[in-house]
Amino acid sequence: MDDATLPEEVFTGSFTQQEPIPDEAIEAAVQVMRTGRLHRYNTIDGELSETDQLEVEFAKWLGVPYCLACASGGAAMQLALRAYGVQAGEPVLTNGYTLAPVPGAIAGVGARPVLVEITDAMVIDLDDLAAKIENSGARLLLISHMRGRLVDMDALMALLEKTGVALIEDCAHTMGAAWRGEKSGTFGLAGCFSAQTYKHVNSGEGGFLTSEDPDFMARAIMNSGSYMLYDRHAAGPGREHFDNARLDTPNCSSRMDNLRAAILRPQLARLDENVERWNARYDAIEEGLAGASGLATVPRPAEETYVGSSIQFLTHTSDTQAIRAFLDRAAMRGVQLKWFGAPEPAGYTSRHDSWRYVDAQNLPKTDAVLARLVDMRIPLTFSLEDCRSIARIIRQCAQETLR
Ligand SMILES: *Cc1c(COP(=O)(O)O)cnc(C)c1O
Repeated sequence: MDDATLPEEVFTGSFTQQEPIPDEAIEAAVQVMRTGRLHRYNTIDGELSETDQLEVEFAKWLGVPYCLACASGGAAMQLALRAYGVQAGEPVLTNGYTLAPVPGAIAGVGARPVLVEITDAMVIDLDDLAAKIENSGARLLLISHMRGRLVDMDALMALLEKTGVALIEDCAHTMGAAWRGEKSGTFGLAGCFSAQTYKHVNSGEGGFLTSEDPDFMARAIMNSGSYMLYDRHAAGPGREHFDNARLDTPNCSSRMDNLRAAILRPQLARLDENVERWNARYDAIEEGLAGASGLATVPRPAEETYVGSSIQFLTHTSDTQAIRAFLDRAAMRGVQLKWFGAPEPAGYTSRHDSWRYVDAQNLPKTDAVLARLVDMRIPLTFSLEDCRSIARIIRQCAQETLR
C-alpha cells in the first residue's frame, strides 16, 4: 500500500508529559515533610535517612559498593571530575555530541573539553578517540552515552586500558542499560546518573554518583558537602578512607535531600518494569518505521540492552530545506521531532559549535551525522497505539517531503 493514500491522522498527545509520581512516593514525601527532617544528616537516633536508604538501594540495583545521591546529574559529573583530581586547564575527552551539562561540567571544574567525533551509529568514534588520546595527552574520558547509545564497550575498555586513560560514564540516558549484561555505569572509575524529570526516574532535579573505588568516593562525599558527618553514609566507604580527604577536600554543597530521595525510592523499585514499558513503545515505533522512505532508524548492536526512552533516525538526505519541510509537516500533525542539524540551538538541544566557552573544534564527521539526525522523546504516557500512530505519521510525512 502506498503510504501517501492513507487518510490524514493527527497525534494529540504531549511529548513532554511524564507519568505522575506514584502514590506511595507522594505518601513517603508527605511523611518526610511531617517530620521536618529534610536535610540528609538531620536524623534521630537509629534512623537511616531516606537519602541513605536510596543510596543503598541504588548501589545494590547497580551492583556497586558505593553510591552518593547528588543535587543533579551535572553535580554528579563535577564531583566525579574533582574527586578524580582534574586540574585547572587539563584536557578532558568527551563526545562532540551530548547535552550541554557534559561540556559544562568539564568547564565548570576549570578543565578543557576535548571533543571526540561520533559515528553514524551515534556513538563515540574510537579511531578519533585513539588519535585524540595521543595528541591531547588527556588522562580521562568523560563518555556520554548520549540518547542511550552504548559504543562497543569491549573495544572502548581495551583502548583505555592500553593507553592508561581513566573512564567516567555519563549515564543520564543509560540508567537501566547494559553491554553484554554488564550495567552501564560500572565500566570505569565512576558512573553519573540524573534524576531530572525527563530521565528514567523523576525527582525534578537529582543525580547519583557511583563507584567501586573507596578513596575516590571518600573525596566525592567530602566534596559534596558532608562536613564532618562523612561516616554517616550507609553506601559510603569506611572511616579510614577519609583520613586524607576530610580536611583537604573543599565543600561544594551538592547534596540530595530526603524529600527527593523519598520520591525516588518507589520509582527505583519500578525502574526495571518501566524499562520494559519503554522498550515496548520504542519497538512499536521502530517497527512502524521499518522500510520507510527517506529515513532509517539507527540500528543497535546485539550486545546492548537499551532503554528506549527516545528514538533516533537519520534522514537519507542532508538537504536542510527538505528536512525542515519534514519537521514542519510532522509538527502540523502533532509529532514533535528534534533536529540536531539546526544551526541555532533550541530547547534542550545544542551542538558543539554553540558551546562557546569551549575552544572551537573541527568535527566534520559529527557535523555530517547531526545534519541528518532526528530525535524523538518517548514518554511513558504514550500508549502502544499512540506509538503506532506516531510511526504512521512520521512515515507519511517522510514520504511527502524526504524523497
Ligand atoms: C540530563 C543530562 C545530564 C544531567 O543533567 P542534570 O539536569 O544536571 O541532571 C547529563 N548528560 C546528559 C546527556 C543529559 O541528557
